[in-house]
Amino acid sequence: MLRVIADTCGQHDTSAGACSCEANIVRFGQQTKYLHACRENFVIEVSKYGMSKRDIVPNINFFMNVPVMPSGELAIVDGISRPGDYVEMAAEMDVLCVISNCPQINNPCNGFNPTPVQVLIWDAEKA
Ligand SMILES: [Zn+2]
Repeated sequence: MLRVIADTCGQHDTSAGACSCEANIVRFGQQTKYLHACRENFVIEVSKYGMSKRDIVPNINFFMNVPVMPSGELAIVDGISRPGDYVEMAAEMDVLCVISNCPQINNPCNGFNPTPVQVLIWDAEKA
């Protein structure tokens, strides 16, 4: 559906999925129950197009560093991306992309300080 045509970071995750309120409770405690999470952000956005949780496909976590540890467990560790890194993709068909700039404030891998993301969309045929 989308083809990566440029990537200045080279480290992204396709294994860990998106955080959810339920997962955050398990990982970070009951006090996180009412915090926003990626899964809920996705549901809110796709609902604007008549879709539901069942329509959400597996996500990619751009710039997220999730190595497989020697024990076989996944770890979420400090990312290796730098300010200004980017991923450029070309849509091969009409697609609906939803983005959650993870509001995960409980994970120390981002220094407890999620940073902004910028998304640029253009029509290649008109550019
Ligand atoms: Zn998240």
